[in-house]
Amino acid sequence: MTGRSIDGKAIAAKVRADVAAAVKQLPGQPALAVVLTGDDPASQVYVASKGKATIEAGMRSVEIRLPAETTEADLIARVDALSRDPDIDGILVQLPLPKHISEANVLAVIDPLKDVDGLTEASAGKLVLGKPGLRPCTPVGCVILAKTERPDLTGANVVVIGRSILVGKPAALLFLEQNASVTIAHSKTRDLKMVCRGADILVAAVGRPEMVRGDWIRPGAIVIDVGTNRVPAPEKGDGKTKLVGDVHFAEAIQVAAAVSPSPGGVGPMTIACLLRNTVLAACARRGWAVPEPLAAG
Ligand code: NAP
Repeated sequence: MTGRSIDGKAIAAKVRADVAAAVKQLPGQPALAVVLTGDDPASQVYVASKGKATIEAGMRSVEIRLPAETTEADLIARVDALSRDPDIDGILVQLPLPKHISEANVLAVIDPLKDVDGLTEASAGKLVLGKPGLRPCTPVGCVILAKTERPDLTGANVVVIGRSILVGKPAALLFLEQNASVTIAHSKTRDLKMVCRGADILVAAVGRPEMVRGDWIRPGAIVIDVGTNRVPAPEKGDGKTKLVGDVHFAEAIQVAAAVSPSPGGVGPMTIACLLRNTVLAACARRGWAVPEPLAAG
């Protein structure tokens, strides 16, 4: 028996269509500002696709590209100006930043009401306290993917491998919010394979290519692969590379009920959830009612 491959692209397209429909109902046009510092090639691709998706959803996209040698003070001044700009609804500082700049110091000047990445201390605090707020995009994408397979997560045993601030911790809290029983595993976890085999829903956010093998997965489980790892692909030619997830997809799909592939699973959801957060941020800040397509989720 083989499981289903969860079509993250199609599910993300539906979220984006809902966002676009919501934007049409708003009394004004939300604006998302993305700040890219330096010339990391992967970040350049992400920023370009975020800008394109923002415009496709009917919103205004503001891209600020700064050289790698930008000082921390200069970057903070730029982000602070966006926080004060009444015409900007969402601010995303593309990570990672160049080594000489403290990410924490920069994130600290993002107005929490514009924190569409959900990474400020204020947003993290609201998540822990169960208060309404902007949630981190990738973890929200994981929950949406899991719920397409199992709409009610009450009582589900969820194992999240990874405890990063960006993915693992917020993902665990979001699944807890859904009334799942959550275990967080990490590099110090003993007998990781057995811990994973207890999962109804297994979320891998590790950054280790194909670490999760078929025999780590409980038959019938749902597997969400967050990992994006670039590895050599000699089959494509000398020096070529490809992206793989943290899960060995071919083995996992033989055992699981459903597996989100990487690429093509969580990745597209991250951008879709960013657009969704931008609309939610605009509504909260400007006192607009959240339009019906987004109000439910
Ligand atoms: P990270 O900050 O490096 O965190 C990795 C986590 O994995 C840490 O908590 C670490 O444990 C744990 N870990 C490392 N080796 C392990 C092992 N052998 N066994 C068990 N746990 C282990 O990474 P991240 O930012 O969370 O990202 C994780 C992956 O998701 C990466 O591949 C990244 O590229 C990908 N990602 C994808 C998206 C997307 O949109 N698709 C977005 C963000 C991230 P310790 O805490 O004990 O060190």
